[in-house]
Amino acid sequence: MKITDIEVIPFRVPRRTFHNGKLGAETTIIQTLTRIHTDEGAEGLYLGGAGHGDQDGLNAQDRAALRGGMRARLLGQDPFDREKFWHWMWVSNTQENLLSVIDMALWDLQARHYNLPLHKLLGGCRDKVKAYASTYPNMGTPEVYAEHAAACKARGYQHYKIHPYYFWDPQTGQPDPGRPSHIDWDIECCRAVRAAVGNDMVLSFDPWGTYRTYEEAVKVGRELERLDFYWYEHPMNEYRVGTYEKLCAELDIPILSPEIAAGSIYTRADWIRRGASDMSRIDVLRGGVTGVRKMAAICEAFGVKCEVHMSGFANLQLLGASSEDVCEYYERGLLAPGVDEETPLPYLEAICDPLDADGYVTVPTEPGMGYRLIWDYIEENRVKE
Ligand SMILES: [Mg+2]
Repeated sequence: MKITDIEVIPFRVPRRTFHNGKLGAETTIIQTLTRIHTDEGAEGLYLGGAGHGDQDGLNAQDRAALRGGMRARLLGQDPFDREKFWHWMWVSNTQENLLSVIDMALWDLQARHYNLPLHKLLGGCRDKVKAYASTYPNMGTPEVYAEHAAACKARGYQHYKIHPYYFWDPQTGQPDPGRPSHIDWDIECCRAVRAAVGNDMVLSFDPWGTYRTYEEAVKVGRELERLDFYWYEHPMNEYRVGTYEKLCAELDIPILSPEIAAGSIYTRADWIRRGASDMSRIDVLRGGVTGVRKMAAICEAFGVKCEVHMSGFANLQLLGASSEDVCEYYERGLLAPGVDEETPLPYLEAICDPLDADGYVTVPTEPGMGYRLIWDYIEENRVKE
């Protein structure tokens, strides 16, 4: 089998985003569907390639790169040679999200060729995965978080993750430069949530690298330990790895990082070697299904958790092919009061991650990534370019 074409289909999708305490007006975003064709009719698909999850399409520059240099390199190649492409693209310094999109469209292609859901092709391990409710940042006052956490608990979630206040003043509801960091408000928020949900809900905390100093990170970490939080995620700038080594040595609560540091498995293996985090973190836009799968194996060998970042089909398929002992949770969201996570987007017949009453999501069982696409919607809203 040979690759005969790589197509990137951009199409318009309405979106209401939650930003700084409120749900915004409806706008339009561009989603993309990357499609790899072969001479035998088999094809591979991948939705998205930017942003959080798989709902944000590739930008115009990325679309041009896939249709140009990437397409030229891959034409005539065997679509099952993913490992060859993966090494080729790393040494050719290909952008991480682009090599990831190609890797995942090729995994989708092979899984659908054999009529298997991707997790079964990878080696099935689970049909359902524990999920945590992952909030938007800047949802409102600590009381708003507390009410939301209680509602998530009532909905079935057993784990709630707080993204607190970034570059936004919770008292005035106005943007600010985040200097000093809002650590007093963040601590209030964590206390309010713990008080609202009781001691039997798992809680975790992610200030998304916004703490400016090591001392701020330690102060909040100590409070999270008192409140029995499960993990402390990405508290500081991830390029200053030495402060993470110090933080891990200082605190008992597990530090979960790196999230946004580039370099896929190579960066993350070095963090493990240096003792810069207690749990590792990666997602499918940092090396594709191939990269996350390798990272899970590295983590398993070291006895380190590999917590997969973001929602979406590919992450969930990977979790279906991994053990809870290594990759424990699926990140569901982002959530906030008024944000609808249950209605499928207009180009899909079903959401990827239906949640049951015990807080588990079911791994999609359709072939490949598990998309049930509404092609009429995609064609009707296609952007010509
Ligand atoms: Mg994070």
